[in-house]
Amino acid sequence: MPDPDPRAAPRVSPHVLILGGTTEATALTVAVANRFASGLKVTYSLAGRATPRRPPPARLRIGGFGGVEGLGAFLTAEAVTAVVDATHPFAARISRHARLACAASSVPLLTLARPAWTRQPGDRWLEADDLAAAAAALPGLARRVFLTLGTADLAPFAALSGIGFTLRMIAPPAAAPFPGCTVIAGRGPFGAAEETALFRAQGFDALVTKASGGAATAGKLVAARTLGLPVVMVRRPPPEPGARVESVAAALEWLDHRLLPPDNPPQDPLPP
Ligand code: NAP
Repeated sequence: MPDPDPRAAPRVSPHVLILGGTTEATALTVAVANRFASGLKVTYSLAGRATPRRPPPARLRIGGFGGVEGLGAFLTAEAVTAVVDATHPFAARISRHARLACAASSVPLLTLARPAWTRQPGDRWLEADDLAAAAAALPGLARRVFLTLGTADLAPFAALSGIGFTLRMIAPPAAAPFPGCTVIAGRGPFGAAEETALFRAQGFDALVTKASGGAATAGKLVAARTLGLPVVMVRRPPPEPGARVESVAAALEWLDHRLLPPDNPPQDPLPP
């Protein structure tokens, strides 16, 4: 079914809900504020696991909606006219909820997802379908492993013995997340030279990462390539069907088309 066209409906002040938690979501919120100024209401939504470094130029709401029904109720109560799902490519549940709630409420939905990383000459990637498969690939492959994962992802690795793990967190906890795992502090972006120096200093012999994509954390892939180390790459979950773009500029264009009447172009040109 084609997206409903909000321009055909009686004029209400457009309201865009941006599902966030990524650098792309923040960048889109800033770009939307510059593009549409006060002509558009924008709500930026976070799950609440981390607080944004800078408050986005939008109304900020924090916490789950309460499943598909809760999100649908929010769309109706707040008269949301379009949703951009700019959550992380591994945040599969909220993306599914967004698709179902938007379909039920006839609200157009766009997914903004950064491109995945692509394999370069010299890369030694072993792709795994999920975290359990990634952990299963490690025995016999490596003894000092850099885990660039979230704390919610660690259970399959905690079950392995004979392998030392290092996890990097913005704020390391007082206690290690599991025996055999040490935590170092760090906040991205991480450059290739910095990552290569870290790999050497720590003696890593393998890297485990999700196929998140993005330039801010690609330095570790360069480090592994430079040092000839294997990378266990957890594949992305299957994407939800529907409209999808990979850049903030393309998401803005989609919003232009959905929200601006043809006789009322934006006042200011897009910044370069
Ligand atoms: P998830 O498994 O897809 O979602 C779990 C639940 O968290 C959802 O059902 C929803 O609760 C709530 N939720 C998630 N994103 C939300 C948002 N933007 N606004 C309001 N509620 C949200 O998500 P996740 O993997 O736990 O990720 C949580 C957040 O961290 C997301 O915003 C994501 O962009 C960000 N993040 C995730 C990763 C990752 O590797 N998964 C990495 C970096 C950043 P209700 O069902 O109650 O609505």
